[in-house]
Amino acid sequence: MIRVLVNGADGRMGSQVVKAVYEDKELEFVGGVSITHIGADAGELAGVGPLGIPIREGLGQALEDIKPDVVVDFTAPRVIFDNAKTVISHGVDMVVGTTGLTEQQRDELGKLALQHKTSIFIAPNFSIGAVLMMKLATEVAPFLPDVEIIELHHNNKLDAPSGTAIMTANKIAAARQEAGAKAAPDKTHESLEGARGAKVDDITIHSVRLPGYVAHQEVLFGGYGEYLTIRHDSVDRKSFMPGVLLAVKKVSSRPGLTFGLENYL
Ligand code: NAP
Repeated sequence: MIRVLVNGADGRMGSQVVKAVYEDKELEFVGGVSITHIGADAGELAGVGPLGIPIREGLGQALEDIKPDVVVDFTAPRVIFDNAKTVISHGVDMVVGTTGLTEQQRDELGKLALQHKTSIFIAPNFSIGAVLMMKLATEVAPFLPDVEIIELHHNNKLDAPSGTAIMTANKIAAARQEAGAKAAPDKTHESLEGARGAKVDDITIHSVRLPGYVAHQEVLFGGYGEYLTIRHDSVDRKSFMPGVLLAVKKVSSRPGLTFGLENYL
């Protein structure tokens, strides 16, 4: 049994992770940490009934008391770097779903994990469909190098663009470069600030935030008299759980940093 502590256990994603871990026969849910709902039963918050495991405050102390094998973190961009350093320095493996870490921070965490002989897995998106969407996009990019990304999320999302959109842009740019394919220049001369979106690796990303959405992305490729759109929709946070459980089971197999669910598929 792999003993799992969930950081952000009362959140939208964290409570789904509590439920998924609790229902998996190879995993044991041993602790939940957050900054609100302190003392509330983590199982009740996750909708699986009382588990006798109260949400507690203070990640470092929880790690010392509970000694989990793996921490799953779905908290907030502003705290994830410090959370990860805390978990790694306790010699515990970590699965990170929280978005917002920069490439430099990821590299730093990877080095720290090697120093502490632990493993850290980070995925901007745990859904299988989203991973396939990114794979298909990298296959199309050398043939249709003109591309823009539209990502659509619920209005409580704290960061923009989404980690998935950034990862997609990075992968498309790398695929284009490898193939020697170039996009046509953007001829826009005058525009309102923000009208042409944000640029990641010179690829335009537009972020939509509205109630009702969960996590959606369109990758739009333009051609001569044709276009190709790849669209992925996560309509329920359940869609992320098979990927999270897979990562929890595999994280210890690769020391240091592993970035992206495709590494486990
Ligand atoms: P959420 O509902 O706000 O949940 C985050 C939870 O963490 C909240 O309960 C929050 O408490 C708590 N928290 C905040 N700071 C904390 C800290 N320092 N220590 C412990 N707990 C803390 O957010 P969400 O929708 O679940 O999303 C969480 C993160 O996952 C976001 O970065 C989101 O982009 C990302 N995400 C990733 C994927 C993926 O596939 N990788 C999928 C969906 C979402 P308060 O409510 O009091 O702030």
